[in-house]
Parts: sequence; C-alpha cells; structure tokens
Amino acid sequence: MKKETICVQSGTYHDLATRGVNTPIFTSSSFEYLEREDCPYPRYFNTPNQEAVVRKLCALEGAEDGVLFSSGMAAISTAILACAGATDHVVMLDALYGGTHAFATDTFDRFGIRYSFVATNADAVAQALTPGTKAIVIESPTNPLLRIIDIRRVAEVAKRRGITTIFDNTFATPINQTPLALGIDVVVHSGTKYMGGHSDLCCGVVLTSKERAGQIRAMARHLGGSLNATTCYLLERSLKTLALRVERQTCNALRIAEFLAGHNAVRNVNYPGLPGFIGHKIASTQMTGFGAMLSFELNQGVRQADFLHRLQIIRPAVSLGGVETLICAPAETSHAKISADERRRIGVTDDLLRLSVGIENVDDLINDLKQALNDK
Ligand SMILES: *Cc1c(COP(=O)(O)O)cnc(C)c1O
Repeated sequence: MKKETICVQSGTYHDLATRGVNTPIFTSSSFEYLEREDCPYPRYFNTPNQEAVVRKLCALEGAEDGVLFSSGMAAISTAILACAGATDHVVMLDALYGGTHAFATDTFDRFGIRYSFVATNADAVAQALTPGTKAIVIESPTNPLLRIIDIRRVAEVAKRRGITTIFDNTFATPINQTPLALGIDVVVHSGTKYMGGHSDLCCGVVLTSKERAGQIRAMARHLGGSLNATTCYLLERSLKTLALRVERQTCNALRIAEFLAGHNAVRNVNYPGLPGFIGHKIASTQMTGFGAMLSFELNQGVRQADFLHRLQIIRPAVSLGGVETLICAPAETSHAKISADERRRIGVTDDLLRLSVGIENVDDLINDLKQALNDK
C-alpha cells in the first residue's frame, strides 16, 4: 500500500460488536486477566487504542514495532536511556531540538552518561566516536536552519561499530523521509507537530525493530510516559489526513521559499528544496519531499516587530506542524535560553524567522507576506 492508503486504512481496530468503521475509544484502565497472557494496562503501552495507532505508524515508517508516548520528549528521553547508561558515551548534533539538547546537558552528568556535541555532518559524527560510544542522536532537517546530514553515511559508520542510531524525524514526517529504510535503527517523533497536525494534542512515538521496541518499552514501563485513550483516538483521526496535509504543506513551502528568495527585503532563505541551498543535493537523495519548514532573515530596512505585526493571516506563535501557518523568531522562542554568543556561533541570528507552512491557499499566504514586507 502507498502512504495515502496506509494513513487511512492501517491499524484500525475492527470492532466486531458494532462493525463501525472507526476504532472505538476504550476507556478502561482495568481489564480482566483470567486466561490471557498480556493483560492490557495504559502504562504497559498495550491498550487497544495505543496498539491501533502504533500499527498505523509502523506501516508509515516501515517499522516492525513501536511505542507511543505522552510527548515527544518522553519518547526521546526513554529511547536514549534504554540504550545508554553510566560510563557509556553518546554523540549528538549541536543543532538537535532544544529539549533534546537540554536533556543531555542538564541530566547526563547525573546518570554518568558521557556525551559529545558535534556539527551537522557525517564526518564530524564519525570523528567523535569513541570505543564507549553506544548511541548517535541526529535529526535532519534541523531546527531552525534546516541543515541536512547524510543519513546513509551516519548509519553505515554506526552499523560497522555496533552503535545504535536514533533519528528525530519530526520535521520531515514519514511522508517525506523514512530513515529506517536508510539504515537508521530507531526513529522518534514529536507527534505534537505534523502527526497531530491541528495544534491541539501532545504525544510522541518511537518506531524500530521488534527487539529494540521491547527494550524501549521495558524502560518506558519504569518511566511511565504513556498516552491516554482519548488522545490516541485524536492522533489516529489526524493521521488519516497526514499524507494529504503534508503533501499540500510541502508544495506551499516550496512556492513560499521561491517567493522569499526572490524578494529584495529578504536574505538567506533556508529551505532544502531550493537548488542553491547548502543541503539540497544530499536532501534530494534521502527525502521524497523537502518538507514544510523554512527560515529566512529580513534585510536591515525592515523591522522584524513591524513585519510580524503587519501579518494578517500568518500568526506569530511557537510550535509547528499544524494546518495553520505560523511564524516565530527562534532567538526569542526556541533558542531564547541559549546565550547570544552561542546563538551567533550556531547561526541563529536575532533576524532569523522560522515559518511553519500550513495548508491554506498559497496565494493568500504569499500576499500576506508581500504586504507585510513591502509596507514601510
Ligand atoms: C517539538 C519537538 C520535540 C519535542 O516534542 P514534545 O512533543 O514537545 O515533547 C522533539 N523534536 C523536535 C524536532 C520537535 O520539533
């Protein structure tokens, strides 16, 4: 089955009692245990609603098994703690999502986990490996500069040395990129973003082999970040339109990136789909679409605050991946806790604006940007 079909059809719980076409919401946290081996319990990650969504997500990412969490960070932290402990070493990109970055710097010392942060390229990752390295944590495209890393090369180097690769695929979604097919061991997502897609739920997911999912589920049962049945249902409903939404968002983003790149009030448009973009070549070999996130800087002549206030459709708001187009200044939001010097070093200038492109009519979006850029 192709992805559009998987989104709609895979994983649905067939309710023999009513023969309704949707997975019912099973509210129970208590189930009878006689004559059954694997008694469901929400924190055991094995209720009917959790399992239905996991089956759909497995089909989309090409995974054998998966674990559904109450947030993206629950998924990421549990996956890392399941494969690295005291004295182990973990290699991470310095461009990782802020929460993942902070998880390492705030807690790894306490757990005795050693770690290195490296630039977003496969050579830097390879050079940072030590005999004690147990895991490599990467993402591509990165936030907010959309940097691209050669996924196949990282996976190859790691496989040769028996190191587990963990890949945050939130930005690309399985519609535009399937890292497991490129050799990655474990894919994680913040389902809060494109998978939920309507800016109204919080969840996360790990997708991997049967064996690794078993190890991660065992750790998850200790840490306890499970997802409730109602949110499972909302997520399952949202996933039915994931392909439709992401395909439209991706088309809109390319049009907007081209418009911005040709506007004299704008410089440095970061979008993997632009042929002149630094990561375009590698992205073309590992993404089927270039995603719906982009960033850009305004020229000196346009004041950022004025520009943001002039926008009438596009809303200045944090988070991403919903049906509505959102804009934010990473220096004031996702990267606000990082020092100004460090922000400059990693390329996140005060001028940088990040756009999460929605499903609206693209001409309406471009006209909104146009009037906000040109108005002096
Ligand atoms: C939002 C986000 C996360 C964290 O997910 P939560 O659901 O907020 O816990 C992780 N990685 C990326 C790339 C994200 O955008």
